[in-house]
Amino acid sequence: MPYSLDSKKIAKATYEWLELRGVTNREIAELTFFLQKDYVPDLTIEECMESVEAVLEKREVQNAVLTGIQLDMLAEQQKLLPPLQEMIENDEGLYGCDEVLALSIVNVYGSIGFTNFGYVDKIKPGCLKRLNDKHGEQKHTFLDDIVGAIAAAASSRIAHRKQAEKELRDGGGRL
Ligand code: MG
Repeated sequence: MPYSLDSKKIAKATYEWLELRGVTNREIAELTFFLQKDYVPDLTIEECMESVEAVLEKREVQNAVLTGIQLDMLAEQQKLLPPLQEMIENDEGLYGCDEVLALSIVNVYGSIGFTNFGYVDKIKPGCLKRLNDKHGEQKHTFLDDIVGAIAAAASSRIAHRKQAEKELRDGGGRL
């Protein structure tokens, strides 16, 4: 049988490392709220929290979180090979693998996620502003994109669910 890790361990590590790197689910939920509030008038922060937690349950999301945080930390410790060290440490504009890794998260809930991801990446609301700050000791070259992607995926999940609820109502409960 191929080797496989206990999925609870991976989920636990994901939560712990996000917290150790200073990101809370609440902050990610606030980004989701920001993205979705104009489209869902009765949206609550609790619904956003629930959606962020559902996104974080996905194994492909956990893999991206752990991989990204690891690379950020290796960059802080000057342990990467040159010239990769310089590129990740300085969040070099043409590097781009941080965004590509984050796209594996956005993919989980379909194409609305892509638009939202591009949007938060551009305007950097809430905790993304802090993560993107280059003056601190911590490097978040990967984590800023990952957090934006989790919020975008959670937002896309809400959009799909609201649509399904609406269809259920309009269809007189036939679905
Ligand atoms: Mg980045």
